[in-house]
Amino acid sequence: MQLMNGDDLLNAVLHAPIGMCLLDAPTLTAEVVNDKFIEVAGRPYESIFGKFYWDAFAEARPYYEAALSGVVETGEPYYADEVALMLIRHGKEELVYVTFVYSPVKDEDGSVKKVMVWVLENTRQVTERQKTEEARAAFQKERDRLKSFFMKAPAGICILDGPALIYELVNPGYQELLPGRDLLGRPLFEALPELVGTPLQQVLLDVYRTGNPYEINELLIPLAKYEGGPTDGRYFSFNYQARRDENDQIDGILAFVFEVTAMVKAQQDQLALNEELSALNEESAAVNEELMVANEQLMAAQEDLRAESYDKQRAIERLQASEQNIRNMVRQAPVGMCIVEGDPLYVVEVNDSFLELIGKTREALRTTPYWVVLAEAAAYYKPITDNVLATGLTYHANEHAIMLIRNGREEIVHVDFVYEPMKDADGKAYAIMIVAIDITEKVLARKRVERAQEQLRMAVDAAELGSYYINTTDRIFHASPRLKEFFGFNPDEEVPYEAAINQIHEDYRQAAADLVEAAITKGVRFDMEYPVVGYHDGKIRWVRGIGEVQHDADGKSYFTGVLHDITEKKQDELRKNDFIGMVSHELKTPLTSLNAIIQVANAKLQKSEDLFLAGAMSRAFQQVKRMSRMIDGFLNISRLEAGKILIEKHPFSIDQLVKEIAEEMKVTANTHVIDVETCRALEVDADHDKINSVISNLVSNAAKYSQNGSTITISCEVVGNEVRVGVRDEGMGLKPDDAKKIFQRYYRVESNKTRHISGFGIGLYLSAEIVERHGGRIWVESEAGAGSTFYFTLPVVG
Ligand code: ADP
Repeated sequence: MQLMNGDDLLNAVLHAPIGMCLLDAPTLTAEVVNDKFIEVAGRPYESIFGKFYWDAFAEARPYYEAALSGVVETGEPYYADEVALMLIRHGKEELVYVTFVYSPVKDEDGSVKKVMVWVLENTRQVTERQKTEEARAAFQKERDRLKSFFMKAPAGICILDGPALIYELVNPGYQELLPGRDLLGRPLFEALPELVGTPLQQVLLDVYRTGNPYEINELLIPLAKYEGGPTDGRYFSFNYQARRDENDQIDGILAFVFEVTAMVKAQQDQLALNEELSALNEESAAVNEELMVANEQLMAAQEDLRAESYDKQRAIERLQASEQNIRNMVRQAPVGMCIVEGDPLYVVEVNDSFLELIGKTREALRTTPYWVVLAEAAAYYKPITDNVLATGLTYHANEHAIMLIRNGREEIVHVDFVYEPMKDADGKAYAIMIVAIDITEKVLARKRVERAQEQLRMAVDAAELGSYYINTTDRIFHASPRLKEFFGFNPDEEVPYEAAINQIHEDYRQAAADLVEAAITKGVRFDMEYPVVGYHDGKIRWVRGIGEVQHDADGKSYFTGVLHDITEKKQDELRKNDFIGMVSHELKTPLTSLNAIIQVANAKLQKSEDLFLAGAMSRAFQQVKRMSRMIDGFLNISRLEAGKILIEKHPFSIDQLVKEIAEEMKVTANTHVIDVETCRALEVDADHDKINSVISNLVSNAAKYSQNGSTITISCEVVGNEVRVGVRDEGMGLKPDDAKKIFQRYYRVESNKTRHISGFGIGLYLSAEIVERHGGRIWVESEAGAGSTFYFTLPVVG
């Protein structure tokens, strides 16, 4: 059965979505031409229909005439797949892509009667495909450029490809962090198995999954030097950024890594050093201030270094814009980038960071040769760029100090930079990529640290500290000249460790040696006071030694220590102890019997008729009690030194206490006029007995250091939120120098006037300690020859 009749068939052909043109085989005249064919041909129906085919398509004749004739002759069809054809369509030459077939139409005997030309236009698809290919190539090229840029960036950068996070790129900075480890082409968690199970693993997987960037600072990571080796605690700051392909799908991770171990360790060392310094400060008030200043500077410098490192990192973050925006990224990168080309060199590409670094405008660089714009640096660096172009060899500059005229001002800038030749296909350098980073801040910060360290060293010298260090591996002992002096050696003498240990007094030697050993092997802090016997001079000196093991950046460790001469202090302590022992022994014994006798006599005399004797005996009893208190004062001193003095606070009326003391003075020592002024009812929360001894001490001093018959005035008033008690005398007064020192232990004013007045120089010292332990202050206002007023304050109850 026939499916279609002739007309139907013709209709179908005419409206088919594929171009058709039926040619008569012997004449090649077009007998049927459909709309689609006209559309592809781009010329009117009349110019094809009924015409000789090669007249209609003269421009294609040279290429396809043979093929069409071949079909007629052989009866074999001819296929052309997506060929490019120059056609004149609508009067204009156009490059089109077509797929066409010349298919023979045969009669029953097999001879070719007609040829059907089938044609499909593919121009749009082909150009689109070409465009995507071009885009992909451009994308790849940009990706490659970015990679070459990463390879030069002065930071650890790696690219992890695909969900398996395979190291696709490892820049030298990154490889340096893991020297000798095989990374490239391997999955991250296989190359660094020690990361498996650490929080970092989850972070990386999350970045890959979510595309959210991630930043971690100062993370402690156990990393081995070589694969499978023992791990070392190292600190890193990271920045991860998802990488996307041309379809914006995540296909990798860009990682920026900075090792901050040295910085973190430096901070830890700094803390340890601070502790040591503060211990020394206690010992050495004279250098206290200097040490503090040096210390602060060191801290500030550390802080700067830290801030600088963060800045750098933050800046690098900015660099991580998506790869598709590489131009933008490069433009905003914190690392200066510039490409120069030609003779003379002109800038062909430059980013903002570079402009900022050199302090010139983009406009100036666009219109004027590079070395004219940067004339101030040309003398030194132009020969270098010439050489890079001539030899094709990269030039690296580390920490160059360059004088630049930035925005009209001369400035010294510290930079790390690279001149990287860009080569053509023949390997000839035709341009230079300059990658530069401003490290001025870093250099300055380092210089500040160096300066602070120098100051610290000077402070150590000024404090007359001996110092030493022992290399913990070879146990070689290095001692400062001052230390040798402490041990009685000549400053330039070789002093081995054993020789030094030998000079430690034998009672302390073993203990000291054991402690040093423990410090080295267990890392505990060494802090010990011991006497040394001078090697040459046999002199005994007391020293306090403080030491600790320190690790430097290369993993070496040293036991370092400082020694402080405390001979004076020790002798002082010994004298004091002897003194207190002597006093308590000498005074306490007779006083105890005196006390007993007077107590008995007093009891008996209470019933006596003789009122004078009864009164005198009870006063004697008071005096003995007072004396006991004085002796207790001495004992208090030793308790005080040992930190054992206790303040027991109870509320009481200070005015009442003042009046009682004044009364007692009038009775016991009727030598002065005692005047109590402005003392209204005032409650304080304090240790009644101890405040009693403070006021009594001030009043008895006022009497001791002034003429009999003169007036002593006691006052108490509220000043601000404090109660202020004052004791004024009309006595000999104090010189300003003495006034400053009288609150020190054992200090007594030495003069003809005071020589005959007995005393131990501890009353004011104890008073000051008591007042300060109540949170109050004590001071004196005085003028030599014009009397003194001693004041102390106590916080008001409330
Ligand atoms: P002491 O009186 O036992 O020497 P203190 O500690 O009470 O010890 O006083 C220390 C020194 O302060 C005294 O030696 C004296 O030189 C001086 N001093 C104390 N009070 C007065 C005063 N009211 N007037 C002048 N000098 C005083």
